[in-house]
Amino acid sequence: MPHDTPLIATIVAGLGLAFVFGALANRFRIPPLVGYLVAGVLVGPNTPGFVADAGLANELAEIGVILLMFGVGLHFSLKDLLSVRAIAVPGAIVQIGFATALGAGLSWMLGWSMGAGLVFGLALSVASTVVLLRALQERRMIETERGRIAVGWLIVEDLAMVLALVLLPALAGVLGGQEQADAHASGLLSLPVTYGIWGVVGMTLAKVAAFVVVMLVVGRRVIPWILHYVAHTGSRELFRLAVLAIALGVAFGAAKLFGVSLALGAFFAGMIMSESELSHRAAEESLPLRDAFSVLFFVSVGMLFDPFSLLSNGLPILATLAIIIIGKSLAAFVIVRAFGYPLTTALMISASLAQIGEFSFILAELGVGLKLLPEQGRDLVLAGAILSIVLNPLMFLALDWMKPWLDARAARKETPDDAKPVGPATAPGQVASVAAATKGEDDPPPRTTSANHTILIGYGRVGNLVGAALKQAALPFLVIEDGDKTLARLKADGVETISGNAANSEVFAAANPEGASRLILAIPNAFEAGQIVLRARAANPGINVIARAHSDAEVEHLKGLGADTVIMGEREIARGIVEEVLGQKPEAAEPSAA
Ligand code: AMP
Repeated sequence: MPHDTPLIATIVAGLGLAFVFGALANRFRIPPLVGYLVAGVLVGPNTPGFVADAGLANELAEIGVILLMFGVGLHFSLKDLLSVRAIAVPGAIVQIGFATALGAGLSWMLGWSMGAGLVFGLALSVASTVVLLRALQERRMIETERGRIAVGWLIVEDLAMVLALVLLPALAGVLGGQEQADAHASGLLSLPVTYGIWGVVGMTLAKVAAFVVVMLVVGRRVIPWILHYVAHTGSRELFRLAVLAIALGVAFGAAKLFGVSLALGAFFAGMIMSESELSHRAAEESLPLRDAFSVLFFVSVGMLFDPFSLLSNGLPILATLAIIIIGKSLAAFVIVRAFGYPLTTALMISASLAQIGEFSFILAELGVGLKLLPEQGRDLVLAGAILSIVLNPLMFLALDWMKPWLDARAARKETPDDAKPVGPATAPGQVASVAAATKGEDDPPPRTTSANHTILIGYGRVGNLVGAALKQAALPFLVIEDGDKTLARLKADGVETISGNAANSEVFAAANPEGASRLILAIPNAFEAGQIVLRARAANPGINVIARAHSDAEVEHLKGLGADTVIMGEREIARGIVEEVLGQKPEAAEPSAA
């Protein structure tokens, strides 16, 4: 192993082993992140053999957090964020309070000081950005309402932790630790403790507010301007570079100048970019890097873990884990239910927050540094983190497992205040998730009552023209679409829609493929389209399938799977151009007012 290239060694060993163990985990049907954690333990200092640089691994993981939060910001608008504040703010605050109280209780039982209890409790109260976002992404839930609630909740927690990190050093003396003159808040605007506690709180909030204002006023103008400028240069490389530079630059600037967390800074950068039409391109540009770095997050957590600590600390670790998994979930569940959301939403939010991660380590580390928290506290936080991260996918599996029961329950207990009026033609068995559909968008959608209809999948550039023509010809059709904005437009137009990914069997089944006469696939991804064709053929051998493709290989693929007609987009474009050149009027390609 070359000793003079610790960064390369860390990246290679981290990614390489994460790949091997991730693939192994996948082979045994265990979530791959367990494999990443194991890879981390193996390259960590607590196991023999090669030891990667923990500091570097940590920093690389931070880049993962930045890119992840940036990606989430890209899917968020300020309006989305504000729309969940009614639940996210009280939810996060109550949950933090409850978890802190439980943590302080355990700390008291272990004979620690009050200050230790506070730090320990706070560390247990905040969920990991990476774990939460990956869980949501895997289930394509970021853009559903429950996904938005979870992200909003996370952002409130993040803000609370920013506050905790600056307050702890200021309060350390009062809490029985060692007061520090240099408050943790880094950056130009950091201030000495002599301003008093309220001064520190006020200044921190003022800095966060200043950051938000700068982003909304200056960033909102400058960032789109830069992107447009770069897009006009026509250089893809420069464009990618611009996206990356803005995401990392804003995050870093937020942390260094305003004392805001890196994650929050990146989130804002993404949110500002989402207002520009170039946002989707930007999102794609940051994708591959994002996944690689977020894998390194798990590796770096694994590196911190000492498997032997499990033996010496058994009971306290179990108690810590119970607080994270049971205590926090219970609090979240009760709050979400109290706000009138369906059972499934409450369970999903509880599951996604039932873990701890990076912020907890930082808090615990700070607590130990301030002589507030005993070393044992940090070990418990670490063990609690790794175990709760490993168990987190199981919580979601448990939800999947409970799903039939939950659906049946929703069908039985269709509460009038949740349900929107259902058409009189809907049969009793078909209202199963109508109640949930109003607030929890990722439940299986209610099955349509249409028959002999056309199923149109995708309502983008292609689908909306097709839809307009079907409408004009008075052919009955419904649309499956998974983009929020498009869905809103469809609803405004009064078109029957099913929201979700059509490649998901439950979503597709809701369109009644058995009773449909035609299936039109107007989505660009031929792999997804292929799966849907297979499913449609299985459900209804006689259905007429028309699909869209972008290459000869895709045409072949889709036809092989059973599509009757496949239209190759590029060929049609060429035809249009040829027609134009030869002076004939292009007929079919006139866009309707959508
Ligand atoms: P376009 O390429 O402009 O025709 O847009 C394709 C449309 O299809 C977009 O509105 C997407 O949101 C939608 N779409 C893509 N894949 C799926 C899918 N698997 N299920 C439902 N809608 C999809």
